Amino acid sequence: MIDELIARAREFAEQELRPVALAYDESEAFPRDELRRAAELGLTCYDLPEEYGGGGVTGLGDSIRVLEELTWGDSPIALVITQGGFFAWPVLALGTEEQKRRWLPALCGPEPPAVAVAITEPGAGSDAAAITTAAERVDGGYVLNGHKTFIGEAHIAERAVVFATVAPGTGARGITAFVVEHGDEGFRRGERLPKLGSRCFPAGELHFENCFVADDRRLGDEGRGFSGLMWVFDRARVQLAANSLGIGRAALEHAVAHAKEREAFGRPIADYQAVSFRLVDAKLKLDQARLLARHAARLCDDGQRFSTEAAMAKLAASEAAMFATWAACQTLGGSGYIRDSPAQKWLRDAKLDEIWDGTSDIMRLIVARNLFR
Ligand SMILES: Cc1cc2nc3c(=O)[nH]c(=O)nc-3n(C[C@H](O)[C@H](O)[C@H](O)COP(=O)(O)OP(=O)(O)OC[C@H]3O[C@@H](n4cnc5c(N)ncnc54)[C@H](O)[C@@H]3O)c2cc1C
Repeated sequence: MIDELIARAREFAEQELRPVALAYDESEAFPRDELRRAAELGLTCYDLPEEYGGGGVTGLGDSIRVLEELTWGDSPIALVITQGGFFAWPVLALGTEEQKRRWLPALCGPEPPAVAVAITEPGAGSDAAAITTAAERVDGGYVLNGHKTFIGEAHIAERAVVFATVAPGTGARGITAFVVEHGDEGFRRGERLPKLGSRCFPAGELHFENCFVADDRRLGDEGRGFSGLMWVFDRARVQLAANSLGIGRAALEHAVAHAKEREAFGRPIADYQAVSFRLVDAKLKLDQARLLARHAARLCDDGQRFSTEAAMAKLAASEAAMFATWAACQTLGGSGYIRDSPAQKWLRDAKLDEIWDGTSDIMRLIVARNLFR
């Protein structure tokens, strides 16, 4: 079954994502048709449990193989297609059965809603425990006040998982997750932010001004949000490793094909070791990172701790993708720098994975903590 799903993802990526990727990069339009088509093919919610309408591919090892195929087709469209899964994770980690039945099936339907997961704030990114969006306890629920930024799909989100603190100044101990819906009084979707890459996967801001959320919108107990967030981050980092690998593999294949065809000084440039060794290094880095990602996923699927391995996989894969996309641009010469070349787009898209869900410095920090414990 998983092999059939991977083949379906590859065919969809090749036939329906690759041909439109550059046009979406230019227009920055939201890829609604591709999202709808992916839903039809069971590619939006393949990794959600069957009881909520998902495809039941709940093993991370299988899930990242599907994702790498999609991102090989186009990373930002793949991010849109899989955003529902990102929203679902905190609900699965922290939510009650009633909450899961309330919010997950819609993600698996024919028209998946735009959704968001909001942690980052203007004053707190890497240090997620320092968020200041406050959730003040009132009769029957909470009142949220604060501001989130750099949030995927923020300006169109129908609902968002929002991390806030019920005890400002206490760091991780007060962090609690809530589901906020478009239309809730005091909840405002803000501006879309222009970006370097991943341009059709929009990011923007969310504002909370005396926004009341009832008790049944709280995910998990008060103060449980941070551990839920770490649960989500570990999985998301392995997923992002797969995202990087898809981009890097696409760039490498493109560069190899070009190097075999393009001639300089009377022979194909692939004959020059300066060119071929650069692409060998790219392949080496990508394949090493893939092994790390699979190892992290296997530990996760075996129920073992895998935070350090997830950080290593994300770090290695995002840096491998940066190298591979740089190597592809270099190999293409001037033609890789022109906007109708996918190489320049892949370079811009790959950069995001060195930043979000924890920068490369933060990934090194996680590994160092384990190394020197
Ligand atoms: C397109 C995009 C989409 C995003 N989507 C989401 C989303 O959906 N939801 C969400 O919540 N967030 C999202 N983010 C935010 C992202 O996760 C943060 O940008 C990221 O965690 C880094 O935080 P920051 O930008 O505040 O950088 P900062 O934390 O200000 O870091 C700045 C620099 O300082 C370094 N640094 C910080 N602390 C240390 C340290 N202790 N040791 C060494 N170096 C350090 C960092 O590595 C970095 O180089 C998104 C970001 C982007 C760009």
